[in-house]
Parts: sequence; structure tokens; C-alpha cells
Amino acid sequence: MAHTGLVLSERYEHHDTGPHHPESAERARAIRLRMRESGLADAALLIDPRPADPSVIDPVHPPEYVSRFRHACEVRAGFIDTPECPVCDETYEIALLAVGGLLQAVDAVMEKRIRNAFCAVRPPGHHAERRRAMGFCYLNNIAIAAEYLRSHYGLARVAIVDFDVHHGNGTQHQFERDPNVFFCSIHQDPNTLYPGSGFDWERGQGDAVGTTLNIPVAAGSGDAEYKRAFEEIILPAVGDFTPEFVLVSAGFDGHRDDPLAYIQLSTACYHWMTYRLVELSGEVAQHRLVSTLEGGYDLDALADSTQAHVEALMTG
Ligand SMILES: [Zn+2]
Repeated sequence: MAHTGLVLSERYEHHDTGPHHPESAERARAIRLRMRESGLADAALLIDPRPADPSVIDPVHPPEYVSRFRHACEVRAGFIDTPECPVCDETYEIALLAVGGLLQAVDAVMEKRIRNAFCAVRPPGHHAERRRAMGFCYLNNIAIAAEYLRSHYGLARVAIVDFDVHHGNGTQHQFERDPNVFFCSIHQDPNTLYPGSGFDWERGQGDAVGTTLNIPVAAGSGDAEYKRAFEEIILPAVGDFTPEFVLVSAGFDGHRDDPLAYIQLSTACYHWMTYRLVELSGEVAQHRLVSTLEGGYDLDALADSTQAHVEALMTG
């Protein structure tokens, strides 16, 4: 029996960001084709996504923002909040489909139908703030999943590991006062990259100090720096937190071929990082791990890296 789930749908290509936008429908298509051609789609438990019930968004985004987002799509406003977040008439529905796919993967893991899963969804989510679209993101998929794990399944402790090359600002802000969600982000130094947050002194607030962990990495760094950070900081810290579930914001824009950043990771390093997280989830979280697509803008590197990621999920 497959122990890895895969959320895959042609409908994720219906969120149209217009010409020349890096967060294009072609990204989802490149991954979908690679999953088919490589045989991984046959080896996994395929999860056909359904749109989430909007009520699951409430803990992360207030209703005023959600209705403003829905309205912007209905009237074809062009974009919401910033031109980097374009909307088409289907964007709201596809954003709900991204959340829905992720929650179905979480359900399948919690019901022990699979151990882990990768959700090849778009739009991505980790930059979305409570009341504002940002950085190609509209709804914070992974924050919604963490809240869902607690409200729906009663989990006490959830860890989120974000290896997208950009800081997961929206996710951090959702949980920085919450000691029961451990948020860890490794990303290119915010002095040199969007969104300009995620310094190492951002460690959480109040009784949640210590449950936010930011690891900025100098531009030009590669596999060696990431592996050291994983071995010496990230894996021990997540292990010490003893999460009941590990969520992964899987961005592949730290790849050396990516046009948006200056980190030099190899495809093999994505396999390595994923495998180590799978091992850790086996040690502390009953193998429960779900990862969701964030960035990654070179189509070949994205297809290669997601293939490596899913292969590591399957072997773990
Ligand atoms: Zn990114």
C-alpha cells in the first residue's frame, strides 16, 4: 500500500496570474506532468481535491478579508492589495481548492490511510497575512492546516518547517504568540531578499518565546550551509518540541537555477532535507508529515526538486 499521498489536480492551473508572472499556471502543470511521467503519481495515493468549506479559514483570516478577496475575483479587480497578487474570476475558488487539498491530505494522514503527503497546490500561502494578500499568496494554506489539526483533531503541538527561500512571514505572524505551534524558517538573509523579515532575533513573543526559529542564510550559500543548519539547529529544535504532526512549507526557490533568489541548493539537497524530516516525523510524530508547495520558479528545477521531494517521502 502506498504510504505517501499526492494532491494533484489540473484545476490548480486555473488561477491565472497573467503573462510574465513567475507564479504561473505552468508551475503546477510542470509538476503534474513530472509526477505522471516519473510514475510517482501511480505509486502514490492520489488525492483529488475539493474546495475547503470557507469556515475552516476563520482562525487565520477574518471574514472581512475573505469576502474582500472573493469580491475582487467576482468583479475581476485585476489584483488584491498589491499588483504582485493578481486575481482572475477563478482565483478565490482555486485558493479554496488549495486549502481543501491540504486538509484532505491531513485527514488521510490522521485516519492512517497514508503516512505522509505532498500537496502540489497553488496559489501558495506562506506570505499571506491575516488581512492582506502578499507575495503571490492569498490564503495561508499551512497556517489553516495547523489550526485545523488543533480544532478538528485536538492535537496539542504542531511543528511547521518552512524551507522556501523566502521567510514565511504570514505563518510566523499567525503563531508568534502561540507556544503550541513551533514555526521554523530557513531562508536567504532578509537584508538581501523579499519580504525583509525573518531575522534570527525574531523568536516569538510572550510565553511563546523560543517557538519561532528563524535561520537566515547568506546569499550564495548552498547544500553545505543548509545541511549544517538542519543537523545542528532545525532537526534538534523540532525534535525537542515533540510535535504530534509535522507540516512543511516546501518551496523550491532555493534551487541554484531559480531566478528569484541567490541560494545554490542542488536537487539532491531537497531529497536530503525531506528525508531527514521524514525520519524525524517517524521519531517524534508517528510519521505524520504533510508538505505543501510554496515557491519555485524555474520550471525544470521545480519538476526535478518536487520529484526528489516525493521520492524521499516515499522512501522514508
Ligand atoms: Zn519563495
